[in-house]
Amino acid sequence: MGVTQRGGPPPGDPGLPADATLMEAAKAAHACTLCAPHLPLGPRPIHQLHPEARLLITSQAPGTKAHLSGIPFEDASGERLRDWLGLDRDRFFDPRQVAILPMSMCYPGRLPRGGDAPPRPECAPLWHPRILPRLGNVRLRLLVGAHAIRFVLGPGLPLAERVARYGDSLPTHFPLPHPSWRTLVWAKRNPWFDTQVIPALRREVSRALAG
Ligand code: SF4
Repeated sequence: MGVTQRGGPPPGDPGLPADATLMEAAKAAHACTLCAPHLPLGPRPIHQLHPEARLLITSQAPGTKAHLSGIPFEDASGERLRDWLGLDRDRFFDPRQVAILPMSMCYPGRLPRGGDAPPRPECAPLWHPRILPRLGNVRLRLLVGAHAIRFVLGPGLPLAERVARYGDSLPTHFPLPHPSWRTLVWAKRNPWFDTQVIPALRREVSRALAG
């Protein structure tokens, strides 16, 4: 039988007082080392948070470039996502407008057969309940990638169907594929993504950030 933890945060979790502010929660998340043994490049939690943010991006996990720079979506996927949203870099990287909280705040590594490993399963269950209630001004949450969609909306529908039925989740959530190069192939097979989903996405993002 393994060791059972009775009360208190697990090892590597910096904990958080109940009355902590968002910025205190963000600082605590930065100090998290909970799943260090599983992280090939070590812990480096990456997020973008401010209490005034009106758009929240729940993404998958940082890649190696983001891990090295400490900046989320500072790569080709980020360029693609900014294009989808109709946002320039200044607005995208303004934490007073856009918050970014991935399913895994640290780079989770690669799968043995290639491709990025899935987000660390410890991260979102631990940190999202601590951070999301402190983001009180968010009007729209983008769920970027199958992991975020499943975690927030629940299992059931395939990714393409979730995205095609984006209207079911509005006005609070908008499901999207991960903006990796693979999605270019996927979008060619699903032309409604460019002709219908992207224009609707830009409208919703603009609505969320207005005023
Ligand atoms: S992935 Fe999340 S839970 Fe794991 S060490 Fe990084 S911040 Fe902590």
